[in-house]
Order: sequence, then structure tokens, then C-alpha cells
Amino acid sequence: MTQRGHNRGPEAPPAECLECGGDYTRVRHDQNFCSDFCRKSWNARRKERGLAIFDAAYDWIANRRGSALTMLSRLLRQMAREDRERRAANKAAADRVKAAKLAGD
Ligand SMILES: [Zn+2]
Repeated sequence: MTQRGHNRGPEAPPAECLECGGDYTRVRHDQNFCSDFCRKSWNARRKERGLAIFDAAYDWIANRRGSALTMLSRLLRQMAREDRERRAANKAAADRVKAAKLAGD
């Protein structure tokens, strides 16, 4: 295993990619993604979500229906749920590919 960066023991546990949920070995201590593809996908979604949050807040200011905090936390919980579901679906698909490869060997 490659040893780079600080505070990395020889048994650094695999990290879980924020985007796809796949396991990977960190090269940098602040790394959150397994690949550039996942990092870019995550950041594209961040931009979309930032706009969605802005629109929801702007709509709230105009209409003032209910609590802003309730509206925001509902939106953020939904986004977190989507992330968990996406990672679980990706992991399940990766496991099926692995199982199919094993069966083919
Ligand atoms: Zn990934």
C-alpha cells in the first residue's frame, strides 16, 4: 500500500466514497471521493442543490408559509436520503457485478 500524507497508519481503513459509496484507499487525508468522476458528480449535484435551496428560501420569503427551519430541514433530510439511497444502489450494483464475475470464473 502506498504511504503518503500525515497520520496514516499502515492499516488505514478503506474510506467510503461520498458519491458512489464504494470503498477506496485515501491518498490525501481530506479526500472524500474514489475518483475525479465521483468528485465532479458530487459537486455538480451540490450546485443544483444550492439553487434548489435558494429557490425554496426565496419562495418562503415571498409566501411565509410555515417555519423556514422546518422547510429547510425537510429539504436537507430529503437530500441526505437521496444520497444514502444512491450509495446503497451503487453498492448493490457493484456487488452483483462482483458475484457475476465470481460465478463466471
Ligand atoms: Zn466513488
